Amino acid sequence: MSTESYEDALERLGELLRQLTCSKISDLGNVAAVKIKKLTDELEELDSNKSSDAVERIKSGFLHFKTRKYMKRPGLYNALAKSQSPKFLVFACSDSRVSPSHILNFQPGEAFIVRNIGNMVPLFDKTQHSGTGAALEYPIVNLNVENILVIGHSRCGGIKGLMSIEDDAAPSKSVFIEDWVKIGTPAKNRVKQEFEDLSFEDQCTHCEKESVNVTLGNLMSYPFVRERVVRNKLALRGGHYDFVNGTFELWELDFKTTPAYAFS
Ligand SMILES: [Zn+2]
Repeated sequence: MSTESYEDALERLGELLRQLTCSKISDLGNVAAVKIKKLTDELEELDSNKSSDAVERIKSGFLHFKTRKYMKRPGLYNALAKSQSPKFLVFACSDSRVSPSHILNFQPGEAFIVRNIGNMVPLFDKTQHSGTGAALEYPIVNLNVENILVIGHSRCGGIKGLMSIEDDAAPSKSVFIEDWVKIGTPAKNRVKQEFEDLSFEDQCTHCEKESVNVTLGNLMSYPFVRERVVRNKLALRGGHYDFVNGTFELWELDFKTTPAYAFS
């Protein structure tokens, strides 16, 4: 096998096919057919090498978990096989650097976790975002979790995207992202107003936290959340994980901070 990359081999195949489409099919001689066969075989081999790297990584990761964790705590995993009763429902960003199980050391069975772009929860609306509503309803209504924690984080691309949307700009080419991150618009507006003298980067940091407050407010628009908070059966908290400085801030729900939703 040559040492060229998959992309190089693909480029050569593309070039060969481009040349052939410029000539008549009847001109496709044995030499060209052999070249295409050889390149296709090389691509298949390179492709299988690529996927076997991924498969190996998954396999070694699971073996590590099974031997170092699963087999060492049979009691825990036997109990979890029967049921789960997590104490936390966590909303976190999908960003690969901020897994709550990693940064807060949640063990299996401890936290029901929902991850999405910018760790946002939209206002209660049965006609859209039903995936978020279902992921919220199940742990609250069926599992009776006692704590909701919404975690924002440093250098969040979702928040940066939200802060970059111009008020009078034409819609972007994004299919889903822009509409989704606009859930945090009340946070963006407040930060732009209160911290207009700060750099864009510092404004984004403020918005990462303010957007958590918007989500905490939005959570109260869900009847099954509001009812449990009022009865002191459910606590709402916000957090911010800063992976640049290695810090984690935690705060209680403060209705006065961002009145994203008014209820009576
Ligand atoms: Zn993020």
